[in-house]
Amino acid sequence: MGIATLVSAVIGCPVELPRGLVERYPELAAARWRRGGLPVRVGGWCLGQRSAAAITLWDTVWLAPGVTLSDELLLHELRHVHQFQASAAFPAWYLWETVRRGYSRNRFEVDARAYAARRLGQSVASTLNG
Ligand SMILES: [Zn+2]
Repeated sequence: MGIATLVSAVIGCPVELPRGLVERYPELAAARWRRGGLPVRVGGWCLGQRSAAAITLWDTVWLAPGVTLSDELLLHELRHVHQFQASAAFPAWYLWETVRRGYSRNRFEVDARAYAARRLGQSVASTLNG
């Protein structure tokens, strides 16, 4: 295994988002997007899977190697970037919520799903309105 392979196994590779996606949701450009790497694997172990679809740490989103870049997934993860930006204590709050309520009822996950649904709805509305 060469150094470059080792490095990409740990931190993944930068990924450029499809232009159409960024045109629809310009806010996606505020995050850094990577594919592969250790974070999605560790996230997966926590969920009892080989790999999580994506994991966000501060302003960087790691996407699992095979995952499809859907609008919903990217908007969801972007919301976690916002959550990191909103409070230095966010990682501790997130873990506390997960321990107390479980992963899917964690209020930060609820908020991320709601944000993605809201933005998807706005995008559909603006397309219909021309
Ligand atoms: Zn999430």
